[in-house]
Amino acid sequence: MTDCLFCKMIQGAIPTKKVYEDAHTYAFEDINPQAPTHILIIPKKHVAGLKEAQVEDAELIGRLHLVAAELGRRRGIEEGYRTVFNVGPKSGQSVFHLHLHLIGGRDMRWPPG
Ligand code: AMP
Ligand code: ZN
Repeated sequence: MTDCLFCKMIQGAIPTKKVYEDAHTYAFEDINPQAPTHILIIPKKHVAGLKEAQVEDAELIGRLHLVAAELGRRRGIEEGYRTVFNVGPKSGQSVFHLHLHLIGGRDMRWPPG
């Protein structure tokens, strides 16, 4: 998608603080971190969001979570972190390229706001 912010990041047209990349996924530091660790993990394939995902995206969605678990290990935050998909405008979703938030490194509250 030519006008998608996250697609441009994957292509290198917009700079990121990249923390991980493989054939299917790309991860970078969130520009407005909500915790000491706040990483966005995205598929290289453009998918608008969870509710737009199709059955053929099942493996990709699993991969995002497995990358989150690996980065949680690397960051030493396994005592407690959150993986979050914001879905739809009422959730606060503001970028319409699927992204998994990995948030941790501090005490977390429940329920989230
Ligand atoms: P969401 O609100 O779930 O759609 O999440 C979008 C996230 O993208 C927010 O947490 C933003 O802080 C983050 N974000 C927006 N622009 C950038 C950018 N240029 N670099 C890194 N993160 C960004
Ligand atoms: Zn995109």
